[in-house]
Amino acid sequence: METFDYVIIGAGSAGSVLANRLGEDSANRICVLEAGGKDWHPYIHLPAGFIKTFHMKSVNWAYQQEPGPWTGGRSIYAPRGKTLGGSSSINGHIYNRGQRQDFDTWAQQGNRGWGYPDILPYFKRLERRIGEGDETFRGRDGKLTVTTMDWNDPLCEAFMEGAVSLGIPRNPDYNGAIQEGVSYCQRTIENGLRMSAAKAFLHPARKRGNVDVRTHAHVTNIIFEGKRAVGVRYLKGGKGGTPVEVRASKEVILSGGAYNSPQVLQLSGVGSPELLQSHGIEVRHALPGVGEGLQDHYAPRSVARVKNIQTINELRRGLSLWVEALKWATTRRGLLSLSPTMVYCFWHSGETTESSDLQLTFTPASYKEGVQGQLEDEPGMTVASWQQRPESRGYVRIRSADPFAAPIIQTNYLVEEIDRRVVVAGMKLARRLLASKPLAPYYAYEDFPGPKVQSDDEFLAAATERGTTTFHPGCTCRMGPADTKWAVVDDQLRVHGLQGLRVVDASIMPRMISANLNASTLMIADKASDMIRGKTAPEAVKFAEPA
Ligand SMILES: Cc1cc2nc3c(=O)[nH]c(=O)nc-3n(C[C@H](O)[C@H](O)[C@H](O)COP(=O)(O)OP(=O)(O)OC[C@H]3O[C@@H](n4cnc5c(N)ncnc54)[C@H](O)[C@@H]3O)c2cc1C
Repeated sequence: METFDYVIIGAGSAGSVLANRLGEDSANRICVLEAGGKDWHPYIHLPAGFIKTFHMKSVNWAYQQEPGPWTGGRSIYAPRGKTLGGSSSINGHIYNRGQRQDFDTWAQQGNRGWGYPDILPYFKRLERRIGEGDETFRGRDGKLTVTTMDWNDPLCEAFMEGAVSLGIPRNPDYNGAIQEGVSYCQRTIENGLRMSAAKAFLHPARKRGNVDVRTHAHVTNIIFEGKRAVGVRYLKGGKGGTPVEVRASKEVILSGGAYNSPQVLQLSGVGSPELLQSHGIEVRHALPGVGEGLQDHYAPRSVARVKNIQTINELRRGLSLWVEALKWATTRRGLLSLSPTMVYCFWHSGETTESSDLQLTFTPASYKEGVQGQLEDEPGMTVASWQQRPESRGYVRIRSADPFAAPIIQTNYLVEEIDRRVVVAGMKLARRLLASKPLAPYYAYEDFPGPKVQSDDEFLAAATERGTTTFHPGCTCRMGPADTKWAVVDDQLRVHGLQGLRVVDASIMPRMISANLNASTLMIADKASDMIRGKTAPEAVKFAEPA
């Protein structure tokens, strides 16, 4: 059996950063096991390819969630990257870190070293920010390029002016001192191409020679000796493939993402004894929090029909598309270089006492049944709105002992009343934004939820009918002190009660943050790499005044 120092399960956002950082020590030998294939497909790299990879099973786990009590009986689609770079290879490119308060809350829950001043240096050291940004908050020398949306579109400008007319100020950098306001999106796109975690971190790491990346390596379980993780079993070639075992002399690191990390733990006998026994799996280590606590952002998409101007719905067809293709080929700009969202707006619902609790996005395009993936034919513009820090929690549980069976994903969107109230407030704000005076020259009429929807109950019914995931699952292997019932890992990301095993990915978040999750997942992995290597953490940032 081959032995490495570290075996990393999953070459996604977190796995890519880990491979890079751990590989900086030339003495370390690292094996990265990825269930998906190489990230060669052009649709991964072309930003507008998002709409294609959204359903492309060769690079996407393409899960379905269980219908929830507030999803109108619908099973919501849950795409997840299954290729080098993981979800960062199929995501919407948005770079959004979250608010100071998000991480301070993690620290307040007993997680030492995870407050905002502690984690800010990692955000900074990871990024190569091109564009606006105060040096207290932004990094210029990292490997992850972050640019600002550079498409001049009168609809985006009018939307932003509309926000200003409602008292929401323009914010030049929502990843800076404050998040609130309306801004053009910051994206992980460089020179018209996607900057995935694989591109920024994994591929450069492979060139060093001590990182062995194995694709089509579907991990079935972690191998234990007593309470110590000593290796990993996988099927080479995926389902029906050859079983292979690799040993880890130092550590096994699980970076399978918020759905698959708990699944791999449960398949390995780590989790709730009742769940494991119900599937005939021997309990290696009872840890009831595994898979519990799932959170995600739930977004209804409000749509208005557009007049007097072309939207992306028409630009992506016929001659216009050819013109755009030519533009991309010659200048790397235009429609094909765009992320699916262009403007961000952070504001208050008035329903909670916390800082801005609403995130709204604007796109001069609209989607069939409000789900990203298929553009409508008639001109449209969309405002998606969601509660930044929902209270509702669900779970991820294995469906069977078969490692190829999709896990049961129940997010329980909107089960907490406060979430319903904030989502309704978000839809009302979306209506006001779309109907604002600066957008009036282009605004034909509201298509969804439509003018008949007026009362809170009617808005809620519309949200139930059409809300979708924003693809931000987290919190399924939560970080917390050992004496909490739900915690799976400690603040060093070591699995409670076991040795030689850490979980490092979006699943360790104890609570949902006010952001899309790629930036923070990269940060988590970078911080974890220092812990694993025994390196002193960078000095916490000292703010001259409250940020
Ligand atoms: C469609 C979509 C749009 C998104 N848009 C944005 C956005 O615009 N901005 C943003 O910040 N975030 C966005 N996200 C979310 C963000 O990309 C993820 O939160 C982040 O990439 C999660 O990183 P991770 O390391 O936790 O998991 P992942 O990046 O998903 O990595 C997990 C890896 O583990 C592999 N794996 C899983 N199980 C096994 C197994 N059994 N054996 C071997 N390998 C396995 C997977 O194939 C995958 O490569 C989006 C996500 C999606 C799906």
